[in-house]
Amino acid sequence: MRSKLLLSFFLVSITYIHAQEKGDPKLTEIWSPVPKVVMPGKTPADPPSDAIILFNGKDVSAWQSKKGKPFNWKVEDSAITVVPFAEDTEYSAEEKQKNTVQGIQTKQGFGNCQLHIEWKTPAEIKGDGQSRGNSGVLLMGRYELQILDSYNNPTYSNGQSGSIYKQHMPMVNVCRPPGEWQSYDIIFTAPQFYEDSTLKSAARMTVFQNGVLIQNNAELWGSMQYIGIPKYEKHAAKEPLLLQDHRNPVKFRNIWIREL
Ligand code: MG
Repeated sequence: MRSKLLLSFFLVSITYIHAQEKGDPKLTEIWSPVPKVVMPGKTPADPPSDAIILFNGKDVSAWQSKKGKPFNWKVEDSAITVVPFAEDTEYSAEEKQKNTVQGIQTKQGFGNCQLHIEWKTPAEIKGDGQSRGNSGVLLMGRYELQILDSYNNPTYSNGQSGSIYKQHMPMVNVCRPPGEWQSYDIIFTAPQFYEDSTLKSAARMTVFQNGVLIQNNAELWGSMQYIGIPKYEKHAAKEPLLLQDHRNPVKFRNIWIREL
């Protein structure tokens, strides 16, 4: 593979040098395909024209509970707020013991995507470590980018805000104080599986928090595991996006996604 790449590079270089000698710039022009025109938003946080809007301040029709029941969190002040234990009764004792993730999820499934989401942990500080402003963005309902109030709140590094939970710590801690809006811009590459369910290629995540790079094309080890080593289990090419109920009233707004 590497030698093929080197060979192509060598041939392209020769052609290029040759073209330069002949003075024909057209040899290095690529006219087709043409990149699709997309109008950018006014600020980087505003959705571009080809985004799927998942929450615009009022409409929650894109969401339902993880168990498929109607949306059961709160909408106030143009934000969605986690209602702790909103769907607790829907879970068996066994599921609870296994620490099954609870939350709301999109009705639509997504694979490779670019996701923008804004979130805010409670201004009033309650609890510490993992019980302070905990939630999470779970791509495909499995791969968790942690949300936590990590502003002067020590916890394990691979569980702090911006970590790919229990896998990769964030490159920097760029958290704003509790009670302030923050953003994640996520580029997610879905894993691929062979017919026999073994892994063909791992999931990858790049993340900007508040505009700063915190995960750079990180390779995931598997689904989020609270206990034990993460591992992959074959799943569909597109799966719902899930927001975690970790018993803290975290807020969300301005959620949009682009399928890649
Ligand atoms: Mg979490």
